[in-house]
Amino acid sequence: MKKTRPFGINTTCTHVGELKDEQFKGAISPLYMSTSYEFDNVDVKRYPRYFNTPNQEALCKKIAALEKTEDALIFGSGMAAISHTMLAFLQKGDHVILQETLYGGTYNFVVEEFDKFGIEYSFTKDLKIESFLVEIKSNTKVVFIETPSNPLLKIVDIEAIASLAKRNGLISMIDNTFASPINQTPVDFGIDIMIHSATKYMGGHSDILAGAVAASEEHIKQIWNLAKNLGGSLSDFTVWMLERSLKTMNLRVKCQSENALKMAEYLEKNAHVTKVYYPGLKSHEDYELAKAQMKYFGGMLSFELNEGINAMEFQHKLSIIKPSMSLAGVESTVLSPTQTSHALLSAEERAKQGIKDGLIRFSVGIEEVEDLIADIEQALDSL
Ligand SMILES: *Cc1c(COP(=O)(O)O)cnc(C)c1O
Repeated sequence: MKKTRPFGINTTCTHVGELKDEQFKGAISPLYMSTSYEFDNVDVKRYPRYFNTPNQEALCKKIAALEKTEDALIFGSGMAAISHTMLAFLQKGDHVILQETLYGGTYNFVVEEFDKFGIEYSFTKDLKIESFLVEIKSNTKVVFIETPSNPLLKIVDIEAIASLAKRNGLISMIDNTFASPINQTPVDFGIDIMIHSATKYMGGHSDILAGAVAASEEHIKQIWNLAKNLGGSLSDFTVWMLERSLKTMNLRVKCQSENALKMAEYLEKNAHVTKVYYPGLKSHEDYELAKAQMKYFGGMLSFELNEGINAMEFQHKLSIIKPSMSLAGVESTVLSPTQTSHALLSAEERAKQGIKDGLIRFSVGIEEVEDLIADIEQALDSL
């Protein structure tokens, strides 16, 4: 592909890393499902578990371009991307600092597995920079953040974390799933490693399970060295599906973000709603910070129904918006953290994290905002 100027975001999404169909001149990347490649006269020994089939390599180019890094690697799930990346940089006796609120799977991975590897960890008491700083020890190697956070959409200062990491010789990692590379490119602020559950905004259609990591060539090489032994690569068919999904990522995420802002503004004025959590609202405590580090404010928001409204009943009265566990699809979905993602915590622990029974997490889709508002109105009216 000849580049006459730096590509715009939609051009990057559509064209970077595309494979040419030399045989039939088809318009899209061909899918190469081969697990076996000729070994004579080829420099690369291609094999799907080595993460180097034509489709795997092409997709990594697109993801690296989106995160503005030298290289990338894709995995069978977001958790595979997270676990491989952490274990590639943490050895027995090392220490990692993780932020207070993290995706449940990441939290479980740390507290259920790290002891057996002899890796030490600390969770911060809140999201302030000082709370990260006080956790640094002589054996600290990694700092891990996730912003915006789930489910209360709290914001961590990415630039401050990156500079804290640099000053103390730590590797900084971010779970960038909620923002997606459309809304946030943390490498611009000095973060070393970006991790995604590609199951979410990258996939975007609730039909792909995948993970991705973007970083420097050197860091990716280190992750690859472990990954080829653990064997969590992504099937070429899913790779091909994900490439297709990424072509529309900017269109989808921009629309979802614009819809989410309108929904947040509407919900903030709704008399049945106590509080709305969305970094794009001026009432959000980190609005200025979010504005400084995000392009749009993302498609995720949460809101608290007034006391006396049953969150479960409300969700089942909705008709377009579906009660559903996952997020980031083109279709709008809601869930009650108390009943689902945070059900295993005690009521006391939930209260400590600020998760009330009436809290609804809302993954805003691409439908017309007027239809989403009408759906919420009819659900509230019927209660
Ligand atoms: C879903 C999710 C993950 C885990 O990804 P899987 O693809 O389900 O393994 C990690 N982090 C965040 C923020 C997520 O939303």
